[in-house]
Amino acid sequence: MVGGLFRNLKYNCDFLQFNQLININVLESCKDFKVQKVVSCLSTCIFPGKTTYPIDETMIHNGPPHQSNSGYSYAKRMTDVMNQAYHQQYGCNFTTVIPTNVYGPHDNFSLEDGNVLPAQINKVYMAKKNGTPFTIWGTGKPLRQFIYSIDLAKLMIWALRDYNEISPIILSVDEADEVSIKEVVEMVIDASEFKGEVVFDTSKSDGQFKKTASNAKLRKYLPDYKFTPIQQGIKETVNWFIENYESARK
Ligand code: GDP
Repeated sequence: MVGGLFRNLKYNCDFLQFNQLININVLESCKDFKVQKVVSCLSTCIFPGKTTYPIDETMIHNGPPHQSNSGYSYAKRMTDVMNQAYHQQYGCNFTTVIPTNVYGPHDNFSLEDGNVLPAQINKVYMAKKNGTPFTIWGTGKPLRQFIYSIDLAKLMIWALRDYNEISPIILSVDEADEVSIKEVVEMVIDASEFKGEVVFDTSKSDGQFKKTASNAKLRKYLPDYKFTPIQQGIKETVNWFIENYESARK
């Protein structure tokens, strides 16, 4: 069960419950049916709220998560705890990957519950269609590393075939590719050719200021992997949303 900052704030207990139930059901079944390999998804938002940067794979359990998504974070941390336990007692080959903020075609473009990029793509689309101002939630100052869903899919298939540790691996663009919410929203505005008024609603939460993650471990395995440039990924996602507006989740 996933969602953006505002869905996490609204359904904190459900995030904790449902994700724990998914962990227990999926991993226990995989153990019983002798599944050879399981790759589960964590997220960089599950790391301690107070931490040093960049965050790396060894730091997941070092302190309480940010309070804005504690239910999701504790449930997801348990996936790693369970993988270690299933390996220790039953020899299971279960691992986790930790993507940063994901975006791309087929996302959930919900205005209220979506992650920042899909929500903003839909909001700009609506503002353009209705001739209304386009509103960004928060100050626009927080920093994020975005990964294109197509790149993430390729890296997850690599992890399934060739990554043989139980411990998690962060799947992230380089630290130098971190961008502010304001910068990323400007890319959405450009890709959508929106010329109307832009407003910041600072009564809305900024969430965590940053979650800068190190991809040093990934780079040790795949030093030459080339991520899709974010402007290109956003342009492709905006085009996909416009072409598939009727059937897109929103
Ligand atoms: P996070 O990275 O886990 O915090 O998740 P999000 O993808 O929800 O990103 C949240 C960041 O984007 C916060 O700084 C929000 O204030 C900012 N933001 C700006 N506009 C929006 C919006 O329309 N939806 C969401 N989810 N976040 C927004």
